[in-house]
Amino acid sequence: MTTPATSNDGAAGERPALDAASLLSDARDVLSDAVKLRRQIHAEPELGLDLPRTQAKVLDALAELDLQVTTGEGLSSVVATLTGDAEGPTLLLRADMDALPMTEDTGAEFASTVAGRMHACGHDAHVAMLVGAARLLAGRRRDLRGTVKFLFQPGEEGPGGAPICIEEGVLESPAVDAAFALHISPNLAAGRLATRPGPLMAATDELLITVTGKGGHASTPHLATDPIPVAAELVLALQTLLTRRVDPFEPVVLTIARITAGTTSNVIPETAELEGTLRTVSDRARERLLAEIERISVHIAAAHDCSAEVAVNRGYPVTVNDADFVAFTRDVLGQLVGADRVLDMKTPILGAEDWAYVLQKVPGCMAFLGVCPPGVSPREAASCHSNRMELDEEALAVGIASHAAIALSYLS
Ligand SMILES: [Zn+2]
Ligand SMILES: [Zn+2]
Repeated sequence: MTTPATSNDGAAGERPALDAASLLSDARDVLSDAVKLRRQIHAEPELGLDLPRTQAKVLDALAELDLQVTTGEGLSSVVATLTGDAEGPTLLLRADMDALPMTEDTGAEFASTVAGRMHACGHDAHVAMLVGAARLLAGRRRDLRGTVKFLFQPGEEGPGGAPICIEEGVLESPAVDAAFALHISPNLAAGRLATRPGPLMAATDELLITVTGKGGHASTPHLATDPIPVAAELVLALQTLLTRRVDPFEPVVLTIARITAGTTSNVIPETAELEGTLRTVSDRARERLLAEIERISVHIAAAHDCSAEVAVNRGYPVTVNDADFVAFTRDVLGQLVGADRVLDMKTPILGAEDWAYVLQKVPGCMAFLGVCPPGVSPREAASCHSNRMELDEEALAVGIASHAAIALSYLS
């Protein structure tokens, strides 16, 4: 993430210049409210699709803004619509809202009050920034030619709230023309932004491979069919598959993270199970590897007179940023914070995002906002999903202004 962005894509000249100073100043004015909201949400984390307390906080924070607000049916989402004074396209801005099932260990004064739940992915900050942006934009209706939809979305960490929001019509009436989301990163210097065209995050699939042989006495392996050596051979064969069957410039990860077989030292078990995750950044690699994993598992098992069954639990697809929208985003954010602070990510990240489903339907992108806490280097800062993850709340002003700047430029 070192190459500075360029700021001269073709369309830039047609848009009125962004009033970056006033946007940043207004973002700083609403920062203390945003931090307060973030801390309230942080203290009461909720999981999955049903987040009634978080939803109530969002509704309360939006109440004074004169937006058209609807809530989800199958999940506790909030969609707030802001119609500009002039007609134009519709932009979707999104914040995810849910926490993770883990115990916080930050010692923060506003730390989670619920054992086994923590906002360790910064979705509390995402909500606070988007509410802040709604406030900024509600005061600038006259500058908006079109409509902004603010989506507050549950279930990003699972089971996936974005596809449900799409089913419930978030991309319709009015139809959404483009979509933007921000994700915080403690491993990026505070106030910097980063994104890339094309694949940004991976597709994730869970695998469960069951090798079945024939159990027996450990002293007479020739009378049994031992599934354990087959499982061991499979672990290595699957890693070889990645190096021999995938383009070396295509990032893929296959981790077998759990192996289960047997009950004691003198019994050959009937079955062995391997469980793992496959991460890919193209549909091509994903489909090919899933097919090859199945083929190799079945045939290696057969070579040893065992059978293998491969169950795939398909996760989120690849998150693909639209190249034109990324160029637009880099130009706008460059005007906001300086082009040298908008970084170009060299590679995708092999985590996953259900924002992928929205970007399958409409052009748009996700960008990362650096929130590295003061006194720590981005490399050493506890990452998202760490029980010690903390963030520099001052940087949230940049996130608020970023959402607002994207909307004002897209709808100018
Ligand atoms: Zn996460
Ligand atoms: Zn996240």
